[in-house]
Amino acid sequence: MAKHQFQTEINQLLQLMIHSLYSNKEIFLRELVSNASDALDKLNMLHLTDDAYKGIAFTPRVDIAIDKEAKTLTVSDTGIGMNDEDLVAHLGTIAKSGTKAFLENLSGDAKKDSQLIGQFGVGFYAAFMVADKIEVVTKKAGEEQAYKWISAGDGEFDIEPAEKEGNGTSITLFLKDEDEEFLETYRIENIIKKYSNHIPFPIFMDKENFIPAERDDEGNETKPSSTEIKNEQINKASALWTLSKSDISDDEYKEFYSSLSHDSGEPITWLHHKAEGAIEYTTLFYIPSKAPMDLYRVDYQPGVKLYINRVFITDDDKELMPTYLRFLRGVIDSADLPLNVSREILQSNPVMNKIQNASVKKVLSELAKLKKKDAEKYDAFYSEFGNVIKEGLYSDFGNREKILELLKFNTLNSNEQTDIESFVTKVDETKKEIYYISGKMSLQMLKNSPQLERFKAKGIDVLILNDEIDTIVFPMVTEYKEYKFVNVSDAQFEESEEEKKADEETAKAFESLVGAMTEALGDKVSKVEVTTDLTDSPVCLKIDKEDPNYQMAQMMKQMGG
Ligand code: ADP
Ligand code: MG
Repeated sequence: MAKHQFQTEINQLLQLMIHSLYSNKEIFLRELVSNASDALDKLNMLHLTDDAYKGIAFTPRVDIAIDKEAKTLTVSDTGIGMNDEDLVAHLGTIAKSGTKAFLENLSGDAKKDSQLIGQFGVGFYAAFMVADKIEVVTKKAGEEQAYKWISAGDGEFDIEPAEKEGNGTSITLFLKDEDEEFLETYRIENIIKKYSNHIPFPIFMDKENFIPAERDDEGNETKPSSTEIKNEQINKASALWTLSKSDISDDEYKEFYSSLSHDSGEPITWLHHKAEGAIEYTTLFYIPSKAPMDLYRVDYQPGVKLYINRVFITDDDKELMPTYLRFLRGVIDSADLPLNVSREILQSNPVMNKIQNASVKKVLSELAKLKKKDAEKYDAFYSEFGNVIKEGLYSDFGNREKILELLKFNTLNSNEQTDIESFVTKVDETKKEIYYISGKMSLQMLKNSPQLERFKAKGIDVLILNDEIDTIVFPMVTEYKEYKFVNVSDAQFEESEEEKKADEETAKAFESLVGAMTEALGDKVSKVEVTTDLTDSPVCLKIDKEDPNYQMAQMMKQMGG
């Protein structure tokens, strides 16, 4: 028997699972079934694409067994399984970004932290919420030796050789006394229906059926009532996205979302689309109501899974959808992609590209619809993901106009936000210029900028862009339809003859001051000049957009420098 220590972070996670009372313990089962389903997916794909696995008999299924006397609950699968190295690597250390992000978000407040568990698939370790000991017996497909992993969640785990018939994994939870509710068949069946109804594999369980007594014509009992135990499939196991929309209820869509996203909240909306014609594919995308915690991490976990004709291919490809739509959860399934497609080939595959482009357009137009139809829902969406969508302004040139139309802007002349479509109805039609000012500061500070004084004097409205992301993306946005984006510092207004004359006189009057300032500031500035742009402030700093230093600074910012 070999003893191993859990990685420090895992211990931290386990302490939380074991010691903080958690109101939604049942999700442990969702996590175990989701792992079983992943293991079946993996073997399914190898079975179809890799000759070495073709000889292995493969009947994909998940079995749940309850032993009331031993107080155990066992979840088994006929999937890929694990060898001893896998066990150490996967059930002892944290590799997945999701779990890492979860740990980084821990606050130390047990109550708050335990709520994070529900938002986040923290997987296998969630089983320690209900079990004081866990045994994993597993055999990797194609290998001879099986292994047993045992832990009481107390800092260490043991691995020893074991006996097991076929490949796959069997996970036995020794339930805590207070968690005996999970020994009830109906309870387990309900949890499975709630979270795992539409995993693409069948889940079986022994169910007790009541058989009523038989009676003769006079009503005398000829055979007493009895119970019969039958092994039954308890989930639908139909990949939900393959069904037609009219056969799917809202609740089923939501359940599927929950099993897919591990999110306990409801999605804001979803789009289910079947394309028929030259290329056949199905997409089902959900827009979550809460941003996942790793949304702003470079190693975020992508939320879209790729299937080829219902065979799972990957859930870890960041290029399936553009990064500015990384909050999407869902499925892309197409029969028109080659099964043994590699990641590199996938990127340049014309079928994949068509699916991606069409999907992006669909999502953007759905968001536009939501914005028009349901302001409240859209606001909820926008406050979570508005800044992510903005990233598309520089990464997705082709859809820039559509993305701009999804944004909500603060403006100089109003305290209400507006959108670009209504903003341009008020711009000067002879100039067709959209003025904006951007800076990472409070809205009020930016509105008070001296650069806006001449706009205030003339009553011209200006977009006030005060999010950090604005300062990065808007310099790249040059136009919307026939309107030009013009930074306030570059705006020029026609002057009358009299105004020009007055300006010249002012310039003359300040000539000696300008000379003195130029000398005093030296090479800290490129130029000092008299301006008529200001009405209240004496001086303001101006940035020359053509200055290579300025452009370099913008580029560095974009690269995260
Ligand atoms: P995640 O599923 O996000 O990777 P988990 O904590 O749920 O995180 O699982 C950790 C890892 O353990 C999985 O990635 C997988 O490699 C392995 N694992 C867990 N359950 C099984 C199983 N039933 N069959 C094969 N491997 C499993
Ligand atoms: Mg998991």
